[in-house]
Amino acid sequence: MATLYWMQTGACGGETLAILGAQSPSFEMLVSDFGIELLWHPSLSHVSPRRHEEIRHEIVAGSIPLDILCVEGSIVTAPRGTGLYDSHHGRARMEIVRELAERAGVVVAMGTCAAFGGVPASGPNPSDSIGLQFLHDAPGGLFPPDWRSRRGLPVVNVSGCPTHPHTMTQTLAALAAGSPLELDAINRPKAFFNTLVHQGCTRNEYHEYDVEDGALGGRACMFFNLGCQGPMTQAVCNDDLWNGVGSKTRAGVPCFGCTAPNFPREGDLFATDKIGDVPHRLPAGVERARYMAYKNLARAAAPERVKNKTMDV
Ligand code: SF4
Repeated sequence: MATLYWMQTGACGGETLAILGAQSPSFEMLVSDFGIELLWHPSLSHVSPRRHEEIRHEIVAGSIPLDILCVEGSIVTAPRGTGLYDSHHGRARMEIVRELAERAGVVVAMGTCAAFGGVPASGPNPSDSIGLQFLHDAPGGLFPPDWRSRRGLPVVNVSGCPTHPHTMTQTLAALAAGSPLELDAINRPKAFFNTLVHQGCTRNEYHEYDVEDGALGGRACMFFNLGCQGPMTQAVCNDDLWNGVGSKTRAGVPCFGCTAPNFPREGDLFATDKIGDVPHRLPAGVERARYMAYKNLARAAAPERVKNKTMDV
């Protein structure tokens, strides 16, 4: 069995809501079939508050082994580095995270807030929020870059806002099984962060021919006008659909790039920042001059069914 303790810090609890929608495996299956023993989850545990305090103290004392520590939410360090704006029984939660992490086999940052600071750490950041081992895409989190858990791993960043349910449960299943976890340059499990949201988007043909929507509610691509970050964002959203049926782009909402360390980006999430007529950010790995030449040709070659936006998405 692998013991798991889930702690919420400064954020909205979105990962807890999202994980309830996981199906393969579901959160219940992690407990019944994948060898996870849930020590505590603030919304899903039924032990009394007093027993919860005892469990936490026993973990810190070393009498209950802790294999997986999940942290959901940013680390609040205000005021003046005390962290007391986010406290539990008079103690800063950042201190509780610190002492639990020292006992943990592995620490998992559930969501972009815990991983990189996320929404609370965006400007002007009055709570002085940070991530567990990063502040956005740079060092500056609660733990220094060379910090490692008992299993020798940095904080595993399972980012998203909220994180895709299966990215969470499959990461936990792999960790519980002791499987090796290959991480990318910002410590996200590569298995779930090596495809783009753009891959699998049903609006792809519109993107290829540069047929774009100028307002929400249309059928075409949302990259040029409506701020879609799908071609730059690594996540499984259009590959493994949410609740088996949907994704933002399938619902007509642009991808906001929520798995990225600098999420939320500055400005309007529903508008594309441009230099002249050209988006400021282009799809990952693409050269600006070639891209624009290709797009102009592609637009001219668009078939009628694409030009007229008659294809369902
Ligand atoms: S809507 Fe976004 S994800 Fe879909 S094709 Fe356009 S740019 Fe790609």
